[in-house]
Amino acid sequence: MLCPYCAFDESNVLESREALDGRATRRRRECLKCKKRFTTYEKVENIELKVVKKDGRIEDYEREKLEKCFEKACWKLNAEERSRLIDEIEMKLLNWDSVEIPSREIGKLVMDKLKDIDPVAYVRFATIYLDIKNIEDFRKLLKAMDK
Ligand SMILES: [Zn+2]
Repeated sequence: MLCPYCAFDESNVLESREALDGRATRRRRECLKCKKRFTTYEKVENIELKVVKKDGRIEDYEREKLEKCFEKACWKLNAEERSRLIDEIEMKLLNWDSVEIPSREIGKLVMDKLKDIDPVAYVRFATIYLDIKNIEDFRKLLKAMDK
């Protein structure tokens, strides 16, 4: 388990608790090198997250799809930076109240990550991932970014 701050691979576990009805373990850790604290989610078994699409269809969550969207949208970031962002987003998804997550909520998490780093990348990401096809949806997207 690498420290997200300094990438050192040894840490102390400060606290452990079950997440997602026992299918994952959430651990609060402290890096032995830089002493910063971070949280990890370790999957006990494969967690089947579902994504609820705009039209109500439900699909399996696929990290690969998120990776592809990020690759197309955020070419300013390198593969490692993208992967780290996706890890952070996945942690939030794993801590969601339900295993069914609306695609627009995933969009919001991505927006939170990208709006400071590369806002234009977020617009590109949203058009791909949230399947935005018309001007009205596009306006809503820009409006949501203003907040
Ligand atoms: Zn560290």
